[in-house]
Amino acid sequence: MKAVCWNGANDMRVETVPDPKILNPRDAIVKITTTAICGSDLHIYNGYIPTMEKGDIMGHEFMGEVVELGSAVKNLKKGDRVIVPFTISCGHCYFCQHDFWSLCDNSNPNAWMAEKLMGYSPSGLFGYSHMMGGYAGGQAEYARVPFADVGLFKIPDGLTDEQVLFLTDILPTGYMAADNCNIQPGDIVAVWGCGPVGQFTIRSAYLLGAERVIAIDRIPERLSLAEKYGGAETLNYEKVDVGEALKEMTGGRGPDACIDAVGMEAHGIDLDYLYDQAKQAVRLETDRPIVLRQMMVACRKGGHISIPGVYVGVIDKMPMGAAMNKALTFKMGQTHVHKYLPALLSYIEDGKIDPSFVITHTLPLEQAPHGYEIFNQRKDNCIKVVLKP
Ligand code: NAD
Ligand code: ZN
Repeated sequence: MKAVCWNGANDMRVETVPDPKILNPRDAIVKITTTAICGSDLHIYNGYIPTMEKGDIMGHEFMGEVVELGSAVKNLKKGDRVIVPFTISCGHCYFCQHDFWSLCDNSNPNAWMAEKLMGYSPSGLFGYSHMMGGYAGGQAEYARVPFADVGLFKIPDGLTDEQVLFLTDILPTGYMAADNCNIQPGDIVAVWGCGPVGQFTIRSAYLLGAERVIAIDRIPERLSLAEKYGGAETLNYEKVDVGEALKEMTGGRGPDACIDAVGMEAHGIDLDYLYDQAKQAVRLETDRPIVLRQMMVACRKGGHISIPGVYVGVIDKMPMGAAMNKALTFKMGQTHVHKYLPALLSYIEDGKIDPSFVITHTLPLEQAPHGYEIFNQRKDNCIKVVLKP
C-alpha cells in the first residue's frame, strides 16, 4: 500500500510499504477513505519528537471502512463505516473505566522508553513515534487498529467524511480544552493559537456558555476565521502586548480562563539540545515556556488554565510561583476522545456544529509532502489539510 513516511525533519515521503495485518484477536484493519494532517504532526515534521525512525508511517486523524476483523471483535462487521480516535485505549484498565481514555495503561508497549526520557509513560497514539507505542499511522491506504471493539466508532449514513473526520481528534480536543475551564455564565475565555484546535476551542467555549472569547495569533486568515466563524475578539501578538491588552479588555481582572492551543513550537526549543538529551536518555527541559508564562500572568486570580497544546516533557522547568499565589487550576492532557465523541457526533447530526469549516485544502495522499509544507509554513492561507488515499 501507499503511506506517508517520515524520513527525517522536514522530509515526508509517500512510499510503498507492506499492508498491515491482524496481529491480535481484538484488531481490525481499516481501509482509509479520509485522513488529515494535525498540528501535532508538525511537531514530528519539525523534528521535535526524538523517537521517530526512518520509514515510520504518519497520521492519527483518519476514518474509513472495516475490511478485516480479528476473531475477538464482536461489535463490528466488514463494511462498517468508522472513525478512529487518535488515542489507543484498551477499554478495561482503571483509566479507561474512569473516562480517562487517553491515559490507558495497556496501549503503549514502549512505555519504558518514555519513562527513561521523560520520567513518565504516556499511552499509545497512532503514528506518533516509538515512545508513544510505535503504531503505524493513518496517512495511508490501510491501518491496523488495536482494541477495535472500543477504538472504532460507527458513523451513521448521511454525514460526509469531512463532517465527522475531526471527531477523531481536534474537535474533541477543542471541546475538552474548553470543558476543562469550568466555564460559568459571563466568563471571558482567552485562547492562544487560532489553528484548527484553537478554532474548535473558541466554538466550544461559546457552546459551554462563555460570554466573550478573546483569540490570540499572528496569522491574519486565522484571526479573521476566529472572528467571522467563531465570533471571537482577536489580538495579533506581533502587534500588541498581549498581557496589557488582556488586562484592558477584562477591566483589569484578567480572563477567567486561559487556554494554550499552541504547544511547544512557540517556545523555540533548541533541537540540538533536545537530541543531545535524548541520546543520553536524560530528562528534556527548557526554560522558555512563553505562552504558558503569558497565561499564568494574565489569568485572573482563581482562574483556570487549560493546555491542549502538546509538550513532550520539555516544560518541566515551568515557574510555579504565580500559579500558586494566584490559586490557579490547571487541566491538560491528550484528549479523552472516547468520552466526548458520542455527544459531539450528535451536535454534528443536529447541525449545531459543522467542523468542515476549517478545511482549506483537500489533496490526494501522494501530495502529502506538499500538504505538510504549506501547513507548516502557513502558506496558501492553509489552515487544515485533508488527504484522500
Ligand atoms: P497549528 O500549528 O495549526 O496551530 C498553532 C497556532 O498557534 C498557529 O496558528 C500559530 O500561529 C499560533 N501561535 C504560535 N505561537 C503563538 C503565540 N506565542 N501566541 C499565540 N499563538 C501562537 O496546530 P493545531 O492543529 O491547531 O494544534 C494546536 C496544538 O494542539 C498543537 O500543539 C497540537 O499538537 C495540539 N493538539 C493537542 C491534542 C491533545 O490531545 N491535547 C490534540 C490535537 C492537537
Ligand atoms: Zn491530531
